[in-house]
Amino acid sequence: MDNVNATQTQEPAGKTKFCKHCGGKIPEAAVVCTLCGCQVEEVRQTEQPNIVINNSNNNVNSNVNANIAGALGIRTRNKWVAFLLCVFLGYLGAHKFYEGKAGMGIVYLFTFGLFGIGWFIDCISLLFKPNPYFVR
Ligand SMILES: [Zn+2]
Repeated sequence: MDNVNATQTQEPAGKTKFCKHCGGKIPEAAVVCTLCGCQVEEVRQTEQPNIVINNSNNNVNSNVNANIAGALGIRTRNKWVAFLLCVFLGYLGAHKFYEGKAGMGIVYLFTFGLFGIGWFIDCISLLFKPNPYFVR
């Protein structure tokens, strides 16, 4: 009668393998040992590539765009640097000088940002640009 109980508890039905931690006999499909709780199989990581792509999707796109822009000789500028320059020093054309547009910068310098209109429009339009953005 003891033998019947022993065979039922120690030998699971179907294919079995031996745990490398405790040496116990466990089901073939077990990832975690049913006796000691240690992990005996690598958990398959089929979902990891998708997670990486989702997290860095925007960064990848902007990096690719920046590389293409660099290859074509198009200048890229940090959106927030340009925006802060525009907000605080826009009437001096600071953001135009930052973009490398010295001519427009001088115009802004002598007209107080096209009488404030150009300054205002540039601040708003900078907000809607991607980061980094491209200077043509
Ligand atoms: Zn075990």
